[in-house]
Amino acid sequence: MDWNRIFLHELDGLFFLEIVFRTAFMFIVVLVVLRLSGKRGVRQLSVFELAIILTLGSAAGDAMFYKDVPLLATVLVCFIAIGIYRLITWVMAKSGYLEQLLEGRPVYIIEDSVMVIKHDQKDSLSKDEFFAELREKGVEHLGQVRTAILETEGNLSIFFYPNQDVKYGLPILPHLYNKYSDTIVDPGLYACIVCGTLNQLAPGRYRCEHCGHHEWVSAINTPRTP
Ligand SMILES: [Zn+2]
Repeated sequence: MDWNRIFLHELDGLFFLEIVFRTAFMFIVVLVVLRLSGKRGVRQLSVFELAIILTLGSAAGDAMFYKDVPLLATVLVCFIAIGIYRLITWVMAKSGYLEQLLEGRPVYIIEDSVMVIKHDQKDSLSKDEFFAELREKGVEHLGQVRTAILETEGNLSIFFYPNQDVKYGLPILPHLYNKYSDTIVDPGLYACIVCGTLNQLAPGRYRCEHCGHHEWVSAINTPRTP
């Protein structure tokens, strides 16, 4: 291994200073350009916004340490990218179709305590990931949730039933959820572990009529706040 080439290559004192200047300069350019984007801050990015950030990051990053990249060219790239961003957001505000195409659309994940299962759904979110997010928001079982919507930025909006209206539902805390079985021994009210559909089941084996899965766990109806 040629450690000298790997770590230093042509780096000398002068180029080191140039890198300091290039980095500081591009950092300021990116700051200015992001301010021009009109966004106040970023908590979650849509795919379209992520594309702009990647473009800016890549252009700015190259200019920080490649000797032969002229800074003005990079500044130009940044301003053109943000210009395109502003133009598209302006058109998107006028055209619902384009907005849906670039940003996606909000998707119903839960309706009336049951997971909405569509087999052609592109905006997929794994069940484990989704249950984990529900738990973070204090959900113990799906009977507490009236509606959950996956927003275009990837965050989850949850609408709860008031305590007196909480229904029976699929428990999502691991120690209860993991007691699922494909064979019912004691008769009772069970929830499908994939979609949360409820069924009053006698001993035996059953398939969920909503999603076709075959494993069940006892439903619970604890209120959300005591
Ligand atoms: Zn099901």
